[in-house]
Amino acid sequence: MPAVGVVPGAAAPVRACVGLGANLGDPLAQMRAAIDAIARLPATRVSSVSSVYRSAPVGYLDQPDFYNAVVALDTRLPPQALLDALLAIEQDGGRTREFRNAPRLIDLDLLLYGDEVVELPHLTVPHPRLAGRAFVLLPLAEIEPGCVVPGLGPLAALAPAVAGQAIERLGALLVR
Ligand code: AMP
Repeated sequence: MPAVGVVPGAAAPVRACVGLGANLGDPLAQMRAAIDAIARLPATRVSSVSSVYRSAPVGYLDQPDFYNAVVALDTRLPPQALLDALLAIEQDGGRTREFRNAPRLIDLDLLLYGDEVVELPHLTVPHPRLAGRAFVLLPLAEIEPGCVVPGLGPLAALAPAVAGQAIERLGALLVR
């Protein structure tokens, strides 16, 4: 019996990228816990983890800086099952949704799912705000430098547009 949500007979895993962000509690510990939980998902292997970055909040500015990272996974979970699993990990991490751009314990975004474009009622991939965010593009470029974003083109070509955003690379996010 395949695990629930796995594409029956799916031959090859898909390289998916997940963005992590946190700015309440102990952000680095929460990010490590989320990556541990992602690594325990069925039919999923974490292939790489970016450095952690600190970035200024966008939208709602009266809140602490964010810590951000990106992880690359090889997964046979289909996109919606992967998103549902990520949302469950957010819930387990104590995530609540007060208002848009609010401070948060942990935020997980499905940035890329191979070269697929996904348009489902509650899931859009590539993530619609991927291109405008230095805190996504910099860690993503670190672990998937040759990546081509479906509909947008090579990742490297997107970087100049976010060059003015306040962000600092802190170093490795030590995960088990
Ligand atoms: P937020 O907490 O602001 O990141 O928004 C989460 C909501 O956005 C979820 O309930 C998802 O259904 C929806 N959503 C749509 N596309 C994505 C995506 N690529 N990654 C994460 N959430 C998504």
